[in-house]
Amino acid sequence: MKCISCKKPAEIKITQAFCAECFLRHYQRRVEKTIKKFKLIQKNDKVLVAVSGGKDSLSCADVLNRLGFNISVLHIDVGIKKCTNERSKRVVEEFCKERNIPFYFTSFEEFFGIEDINKFFKIAKRPICATCGMLKRALFNKFARENGFTKIATGHCADDIVKYFFKSMLAGDRDSILWLSKLKPITPSSHPKVITRIRPLFEMLEIENLAYTKFRNIVVAGCTMCSYFQRKDKWTEILRDVDKKIPDFKIKIARTLEKIEIILPDVQKKEEIKECSICGEPTNQEICAVCKIKQKLSKRNSSKIS
Ligand code: AMP
Ligand code: ZN
Repeated sequence: MKCISCKKPAEIKITQAFCAECFLRHYQRRVEKTIKKFKLIQKNDKVLVAVSGGKDSLSCADVLNRLGFNISVLHIDVGIKKCTNERSKRVVEEFCKERNIPFYFTSFEEFFGIEDINKFFKIAKRPICATCGMLKRALFNKFARENGFTKIATGHCADDIVKYFFKSMLAGDRDSILWLSKLKPITPSSHPKVITRIRPLFEMLEIENLAYTKFRNIVVAGCTMCSYFQRKDKWTEILRDVDKKIPDFKIKIARTLEKIEIILPDVQKKEEIKECSICGEPTNQEICAVCKIKQKLSKRNSSKIS
């Protein structure tokens, strides 16, 4: 098998066969194309890249850095064992040091002043991944705003987008439909306190990100995928089967999602963003989700004392 670009022996074939060098060039060019097509980053943007230490977010930070954008990296200790740990922090910190990228670190407990994150997860009465995701989004936004960043970049790739797509289609409720409208390479700011979010790897496959980190010799933190998530995620398995028959179906779905506007006018109206009456962070409710759970937690604690 030969590289379709330079005809040297190919080292990888996902949708097309490439040698390592041509694969890396092709990968970077595709990410650059997404950035240009959707105007994800402007020259004067200060981009905060959220990096877990996994292959996706590390690939994202590496490409943005190579393309010469002004980036900094944020890593969070989410307080769930096996999800983030000392090793993932070290991996991300080292990655940044080698490339001279400013590195920031915090935890949910420290950032939100939550005493015991495990109690917080328990009292939220939602799947732990949902609470974790909500806290991450709230943290990324507040951190970026308070530190003068103009864009937040995450490592979401076509595999994530397709999984969200099927999950939302199956759920079918209003919130899920609203999520569908967010499956785009960019979620523009909807309020002065909301920072624009970008997904430069929107059209890239997880397996391509894995190959990218391998060929670039980027050290990846062992398993950064949360243990709760893995157990429940049947979609990875289902989509693997579809993949065998249609290797580029995930990229095709991601590209279709870029083109359709699923936002219903009345859903959009409902999504009016206000400021939380307790902490002032943006929310579509009177009190934001973080403060609601904090209130519950402090009520429970005070009823235990009295
Ligand atoms: P996930 O929700 O785990 O699929 O992660 C989605 C994106 O959020 C990743 O691609 C990262 O950009 C970011 N992210 C996830 N976990 C962390 C973390 N512990 N610290 C910083 N960013 C993270
Ligand atoms: Zn609040």
